[in-house]
Amino acid sequence: MSKLLLINPWSRDEEGVVWSFAYQKDYWRNPYKGLVQLATYLRKNGHTVKILDCERDLLIEAGGNPDLMLKLIESKVRYLHPDVVGVTAMTYRWMEAYKILNVLTELKPELRFRLILGGRHASSETEMCMKDIPGLDCIFHGFAEVGLNKYLDGDPLEEIPGAAFMSQGEVKRTPNEVVNDLDELPWPDWSLIDSSFYTHPNIRVHRSTGTPLRSLDTICSRGCNMACAFCSGADGKPKWHSVNYILDYIEWTQKTYQTNATIFQDSSLGNNKTFLVKLCEGLIRRNINKKLIWTCNMRADQVDTETVGLMYRAGCRLIFIGFESGSERILNLMHKGCTVEDNIRCAQVLEDAEMPYWASFILGYPGETEQDIYETGKFIEKINPTTGWVNAFFPSPGSNIYKKLKREGRITVSSIYDWINYGRTGEGNSNLGLYAEIPSERFRYCLFKLQGYFQKITDTGIKRELEFSK
Ligand code: SF4
Repeated sequence: MSKLLLINPWSRDEEGVVWSFAYQKDYWRNPYKGLVQLATYLRKNGHTVKILDCERDLLIEAGGNPDLMLKLIESKVRYLHPDVVGVTAMTYRWMEAYKILNVLTELKPELRFRLILGGRHASSETEMCMKDIPGLDCIFHGFAEVGLNKYLDGDPLEEIPGAAFMSQGEVKRTPNEVVNDLDELPWPDWSLIDSSFYTHPNIRVHRSTGTPLRSLDTICSRGCNMACAFCSGADGKPKWHSVNYILDYIEWTQKTYQTNATIFQDSSLGNNKTFLVKLCEGLIRRNINKKLIWTCNMRADQVDTETVGLMYRAGCRLIFIGFESGSERILNLMHKGCTVEDNIRCAQVLEDAEMPYWASFILGYPGETEQDIYETGKFIEKINPTTGWVNAFFPSPGSNIYKKLKREGRITVSSIYDWINYGRTGEGNSNLGLYAEIPSERFRYCLFKLQGYFQKITDTGIKRELEFSK
């Protein structure tokens, strides 16, 4: 049995932040459920597992100071003396992960732990990560429950599912094995992190209710059967929990962590309509809907009047819809599988049902012209959504469009710092509009105009004319 320390990086956007209850109230946090679930699974299998949650510790322990955070990591690793240290990161936190990995690489010869890496970024850019971090012993690609359990048991690397490691100067990868019956996974033990930090009453997501809510995420499935080209979660092999597993889990989080809200983080609850209907019926039958407000993702072509009515009765008060664009041409290029007509019909159904919704868009998709952006602006004006946001496009490692751009030589990462441009959708990204067919300055004008429109709604709840013209 091994001692494992798992580390998730902090957010660069929160460096220098002076934390307060007021700040926390308006900042929606999405705890690393995957990491907590993995740690819970490994503990159940007899290993000693701790999580060093830098998202929380940067603010609470290090006063927003990243250099102090790195020193804290060093002292915690020295104190805990683990056999294995694992770091996880999405691309948008890769720079912070890299800094942590450098500290760990220096400590490794003295403390003699094995250093491993996981998460979407490492799964997609395995060779580059191995090259950038010579101290790495192994990278796990995909869901790591089965593979990491064997690794901690001391099995030889060649027999570890989902592992990548150096062998005779080359990166060798083994095929992954996953837990087939998701109900075999224990409920995530939120006491592995500071749950009170994440369940602090929050107004951000459920603003339309007017009440700060205590929320912990729920995930009913893994994977997505759709194939949107910009998405790194499009793997075509979804697996689902049983409805009772999820209902029991929600009741347990309510009782144990006093939650009164949850966000279903699934790609789309509408991907499995039978599950969604049974979930809603279960929430009503067990009276959970009387003390739970919830949010979920859905695709526009999955929204219908009957289902939305049932969802409302079951406690749903916000649906996140990825409309992505008001241009048919761009929706086709994205392989979104929804038309502008689907999007308009969806918005009308939600409006009629008085179901609040978050309208999400992507601007700057490869090949997008000013005319396409104009059509998106007009679309937003037409549907007049409850709230939403416009993200600047960036190629997400692992997505089909990322692979295509890489084949075409249009992904330019010459230094580790270039990854900053593959995850930031705001002004700090010097790649904004890089792939669109529109001059950079004009693109930025359009993007900030549309973002400003939604910011106003989010801040004040007041809608106004978009004043978006050619
Ligand atoms: S964007 Fe949503 S619907 Fe499309 S592949 Fe990704 S998770 Fe699935």
